[in-house]
Amino acid sequence: MADIEEILKRARQHTDEVIRPNVDAWNEAGEWPRAASDQAGALGLTGLYAPEEWGGQGLPLAEGIRVYEELGKGDGAYAFALSMHNICTYAVCGFGTEGFREKWARDLTAGRRLANFSLTEPQSGSDAANMLTRARINGDGTWTISGKKAWVSLAGEADVYLTVVKTSDQPGHRDMAMIAIPKDAPGLSFGPRYETPSYNFLPLAEMFLDKVTVPEENIILPPGQGLQGALMAIDIARVSIASGCCGLMETALDTALAYASRRRMFGGVNLDLEGIQWMLGDVATNLEASRLLYRAAADALGGENGPLMAAHAKRFVPDAALSAVETCTQVLGGSGLLKQYGMDRLSRLAQMLRIVDGTTEISRVVIGRALQKRARALPDIAVPRGYGEE
Ligand SMILES: Cc1cc2nc3c(=O)[nH]c(=O)nc-3n(C[C@H](O)[C@H](O)[C@H](O)COP(=O)(O)OP(=O)(O)OC[C@H]3O[C@@H](n4cnc5c(N)ncnc54)[C@H](O)[C@@H]3O)c2cc1C
Repeated sequence: MADIEEILKRARQHTDEVIRPNVDAWNEAGEWPRAASDQAGALGLTGLYAPEEWGGQGLPLAEGIRVYEELGKGDGAYAFALSMHNICTYAVCGFGTEGFREKWARDLTAGRRLANFSLTEPQSGSDAANMLTRARINGDGTWTISGKKAWVSLAGEADVYLTVVKTSDQPGHRDMAMIAIPKDAPGLSFGPRYETPSYNFLPLAEMFLDKVTVPEENIILPPGQGLQGALMAIDIARVSIASGCCGLMETALDTALAYASRRRMFGGVNLDLEGIQWMLGDVATNLEASRLLYRAAADALGGENGPLMAAHAKRFVPDAALSAVETCTQVLGGSGLLKQYGMDRLSRLAQMLRIVDGTTEISRVVIGRALQKRARALPDIAVPRGYGEE
């Protein structure tokens, strides 16, 4: 198993030397920085949880997830894309067939090939079970997939798409499967790129599947396990996003501190003002709380409380990040609106991270259901006459 402190050091170096100096140019070019993700691969950042026998770092989820806090200091969308790739790589190594792993695992852990996770469709975002993409088994054991996916990150850039499909017309999710579809599979194509304002280097588009046929060895999760596997992947993704948001908050806070300690006013500097110290103090408290929460959620992954803790982290931390960026922008006064301080970019990223991999509201749904379950297990309590069942 790799040493997490060494991996975090490399992630910090990648952020300082590759992401921070180049992210504005990446956004202007509007292209995924493949050379940068190749470098991340060479540093061991693309196979974090995959076993060493497949070229991965073999880190436990709870440790590997901390990498996104470092990458998130540079850019939240870049951190998100690498986290998605890492989760897919973990799924391939853990659940893929021997044949598929032989063909793909080492290239994925090394970052030579990139992976995407495709669940969302135009009519099914939060309502994931309302999926229309269908896979049918053929007489020779191959599978043919037809349908359309939406909001596909790394669209056209990823080399393989772990696609969640339904395998019958029965309503519900019991027949869902996860199938790996290589980019060059005949019948696979992408729509025009979505235009996004602040993470333009991340290609996002619809993906069309027109009778795409793949061998049986490309089944990552067989029918019946697709949704469960997707939900596990999403729980890991939710905590990873919370980790990336902590990095984003730290960048906003440090920018505000650096500026406020130099901005002269009233015979001193901006940071001498108690009101400013209180504003930034609240950001610092929320950052510490967010960090504790995502790390506790990362520890819980894979256990009974994993989904609930992931929901708490995804509910709280991106909101805290968005509010932190707003406060830090305000502290810079008019300068907070200048592109060079990056606050607008951070704000757009925090908003994006509130949506992707289950919105804040969906986290509240998960938490609400857990509270209902907890209420059912509580001893009876008397309510005033006429307030409960007679
Ligand atoms: C940058 C980016 C990258 C993405 N990459 C991928 C990807 O690679 N693969 C992939 O599969 N998906 C991806 N997504 C899709 C993402 O996961 C969805 O956008 C998200 O799940 C929300 O779905 P939706 O956009 O359809 O919103 P909707 O489901 O239409 O939701 C609309 C609003 O209704 C709210 N809402 C929904 N249900 C409830 C409820 N029960 N109670 C209260 N409010 C509710 C939502 O919170 C939201 O505010 C990406 C999204 C973004 C923004």
